[in-house]
Amino acid sequence: MHSKKTAASLLPLLGSHVPTVGGVSAAIDRGVGIGCTAMQIFVKNNMQWFAKPLSEEEVEAFNGHPLRDRLGAVVAHAGYLINLGVEGTENHAKSLRSLADEMLRCEQLGIRSLVLHPGSHLGAGMDAGIACVARNLDLLHAEHPGLKVRITLETTAGQGACIGARFEEIAEIIGRVADPERLEVCLDTAHAFAAGYDLSLPRGAEKTFAEFDAVIGISRLSVLHINDSKSALGSRVDRHDNLGKGKIGLETFRWIMRSKALAHIPKILETPKGKDLAEDVEAMALLRSFLE
Ligand SMILES: [Zn+2]
Ligand SMILES: [Zn+2]
Repeated sequence: MHSKKTAASLLPLLGSHVPTVGGVSAAIDRGVGIGCTAMQIFVKNNMQWFAKPLSEEEVEAFNGHPLRDRLGAVVAHAGYLINLGVEGTENHAKSLRSLADEMLRCEQLGIRSLVLHPGSHLGAGMDAGIACVARNLDLLHAEHPGLKVRITLETTAGQGACIGARFEEIAEIIGRVADPERLEVCLDTAHAFAAGYDLSLPRGAEKTFAEFDAVIGISRLSVLHINDSKSALGSRVDRHDNLGKGKIGLETFRWIMRSKALAHIPKILETPKGKDLAEDVEAMALLRSFLE
């Protein structure tokens, strides 16, 4: 639908998590309105299991939106209740149904990446959790063959029993599923830092992405979450901060913006902001200035 040439002319693919108040198509107005060339949305309320299906009008308003081609990438973030890391509970069944519903919504909206926290093993242990996530991804893939949307596993801060703080954990999930080509990865800078990957310069970013490449493979990376971290290196506490206000440091974000290997990857801010999104506008201007 969108030619490579169009996407290239929109580089850098930079934006933020944009609210969908007023419907998914309203997010396009909002995102393009603040200068996004990429954006992330929720395809339904992120704190509820289920929602009304998207109406035909809503789908058409999104896909046929006159500003849709100003966005080189639109990615979705899955709901926060979904957990593929445990089985046999009521929430397990709900998680599968809820995630399948989100995959189908993405398909309707032409969204290719659905960012998902791998899950929490809730005390069963990391190995059991990883095996469980892989089994459930296989179930979803088998039930919904032929979809274009890719579940995009996000690296986590490793809070509590959360799976996916170590790159090895993500790599193992990918290694275990029957159809690994249907999985992609999102690296969140705040999560990685809290998980113990020291992204601070002079060498931290280079080392972290080299490690990502060695363990997961950089070709698997399809989304970057660009967040500073309020919490300390290795704290395993997930607290996003505005760029330059947290503990990672602005130089890391300059390095990321200037990296040729990461040039084509959509970069999404998930930093604190008010209703008018002024902080996003400011942060995007700052990130773009690093390319001058
Ligand atoms: Zn996330
Ligand atoms: Zn994130």
